[in-house]
Amino acid sequence: MSLSECIIFTMMKLLHERKKIIKYSLQMLNSGLTTGSGGNLSIFNRREGLIAITPSGVEYPELTIEDIILLDIDENIINSQPNLKPSSEVGFHIALYQKRSDINAVIHTHSPYATTFACLNREILPVHYLVAFAGRKVPLSPYATFGTRELANNIASTIDDYNATLLANHGLIAVGSNIENAFNTAQEIEFVARIYYQSECIGKPSIIPENEMDKVIEKFKSYGSGKK
Ligand SMILES: [Zn+2]
Repeated sequence: MSLSECIIFTMMKLLHERKKIIKYSLQMLNSGLTTGSGGNLSIFNRREGLIAITPSGVEYPELTIEDIILLDIDENIINSQPNLKPSSEVGFHIALYQKRSDINAVIHTHSPYATTFACLNREILPVHYLVAFAGRKVPLSPYATFGTRELANNIASTIDDYNATLLANHGLIAVGSNIENAFNTAQEIEFVARIYYQSECIGKPSIIPENEMDKVIEKFKSYGSGKK
């Protein structure tokens, strides 16, 4: 294979995943889950052993297929534009893929209501049954400086079998078997966080008992992910 053929071959890798990253980056921005170039997304194609991730510092509306960076699970860059670097949070994306084999997509947002609870260092309790997109609650990962190994470790040890976690004084992470599920979870958890906040503004929200949440979690399993 010639050098130019080799470059074209690498550029074609994970084309489907790269297109999806652009689609969901724009959706994240347009649905108010983040602002500017905040947040990041990735998809892990386990068969190819490659991760497609958003680059650092590029505004989402300007993203092109070529801008999406490809890495392996050891963080070696396989394909990137010369002037671009992977998201500064690449460490926690990889930590999550290493921690759980059922995770194939990660979305990180600074969505305002979820981030409000993150800044209060409070978990999101089951005030609304849709919290089941994440699990019985949305746990809180302890604070560490963004982009550090410490933050990645905190997240990996908190997420356990949840599909979302708050990052103290920072934002939210949602994970899924695919990007559609991860995005839905981020969106539904932002809704629950907003309802929780609004409920606290005018009274004391009632928390759904554990045995009732067990039933919801069971129903979610039998309906498949994302059904309600
Ligand atoms: Zn962030």
